Amino acid sequence: MGQGLSCSSSHENGLFNAVQCGDLEMVQLLLNNQPSLLHNTTLYDRQSPLHFAAANGQIEILSLLLERSVNPDLLNRHKQTPLMLAAMHGKISCLKKLLEVGANILKFDSLHGRTCLHYAAYYGHFDCLEAILSAAQSSPVAVSWGFVRFVNIRDGKGATPLHLAARQRRPECIHILLDNGALVSASTGGYGCQGSTPLHLAARGGSLDCIRELLAWGADRLQRDSTGRIPYVIAMKHRHGTCAALLNPSSTEPLVWPSPLKFINELNQEAKALLEQALMEANREREKNILKTNSPGLPSPSHSDAVDDNLSEISDEDTELCSICFEQASTIEVQNCGHVMCAQCTLSLCCHSKPNPTTACLTPPVCPFCRSNILHLVVAKTKREEVDDHEAINSKQRKGRKSHNFSEGGSSSFKGLSSMTSFGKIGAGRNSGRIAAEEDPSVDKLG
Ligand SMILES: [Zn+2]
Ligand SMILES: [Zn+2]
Repeated sequence: MGQGLSCSSSHENGLFNAVQCGDLEMVQLLLNNQPSLLHNTTLYDRQSPLHFAAANGQIEILSLLLERSVNPDLLNRHKQTPLMLAAMHGKISCLKKLLEVGANILKFDSLHGRTCLHYAAYYGHFDCLEAILSAAQSSPVAVSWGFVRFVNIRDGKGATPLHLAARQRRPECIHILLDNGALVSASTGGYGCQGSTPLHLAARGGSLDCIRELLAWGADRLQRDSTGRIPYVIAMKHRHGTCAALLNPSSTEPLVWPSPLKFINELNQEAKALLEQALMEANREREKNILKTNSPGLPSPSHSDAVDDNLSEISDEDTELCSICFEQASTIEVQNCGHVMCAQCTLSLCCHSKPNPTTACLTPPVCPFCRSNILHLVVAKTKREEVDDHEAINSKQRKGRKSHNFSEGGSSSFKGLSSMTSFGKIGAGRNSGRIAAEEDPSVDKLG
């Protein structure tokens, strides 16, 4: 029914045509002549003009209809609201307008018992997904239902928006949902029955990016579905070889976002983006090793899966070099002490003490330089602002000077940490010795 909002197929009146084509003047004219047209619906699907406007992204007409006090929550034959259709077709301005006038985000259709959030996740319109979630935070839903409950809302078959996003290969939506409290290992079965987790559905869909996101948020590779299969088996069955390699329980565990840490949840957007980048980068290194050594027969990851070179080239900037790894620029500042290190080292510090965040109680790490408690992490100020026209020269000099500073960093106290910067080792303990032997030789250069 996605493309069903065309009226050429029937003898509906001209209003629907005008709405669909965005002919504002015609809509006004028709409604002025015959105001009752506002309440007409199509014969079979019972779509209202508002449904047409929302599905076709006709924002001006949508606003006009709403001004004429049309109920924003009109239902069509399948109990779909205009909001659901806007979310389905990714019509963000119409969706925002509907939310603005108080459209109900907690309506369920009669097809699969899905909400507008399911629609946005299923069709991969992450802008719509974000808009709905942000509306949910301030709407009565948050009070009556609870925001996290809304994020994890189930359709008629027990699927949360996260399940749908995983099945439909929508990594951006997965990211947003997890970021907003979606349960990564939710099972469609609910209440003790074993169903599928988002990871099972991602394994079926075969999207590497989706699997990466889910694993980085702690999705369990060993959870079984109703037929007793782990995600790895499903990926194999559907011939998604690369996905299967990552899902193979004997492959190195991925680094997991340390969400239980208080200061991680309090990160500002900028610092968070840096750390998330470091996490994905570390996991891609791990992937490369897995794919290189574990599965010679598998095709190498596609171009889009390759490590983004931009990510690791921050060190040319006019920032201090990290005195733990001496490889990356210090981009993260610990507060309150003000010590700086790179995002990768920060992350390895935070992820250090837990194999699995869902089972382990995390002891918050301390600053590796002064052992004071980490209260906050912020993006370290670059020195670029202080540098004006002599930028190029200064930057060279500074770089030279930095390299002399390394030795006075008291590297003995970092001995422990330097092993942590080897991401490959983290979490390897649970796995077979086979993996431990595959470490990237480059990481040990400090040892
Ligand atoms: Zn570092
Ligand atoms: Zn410190």
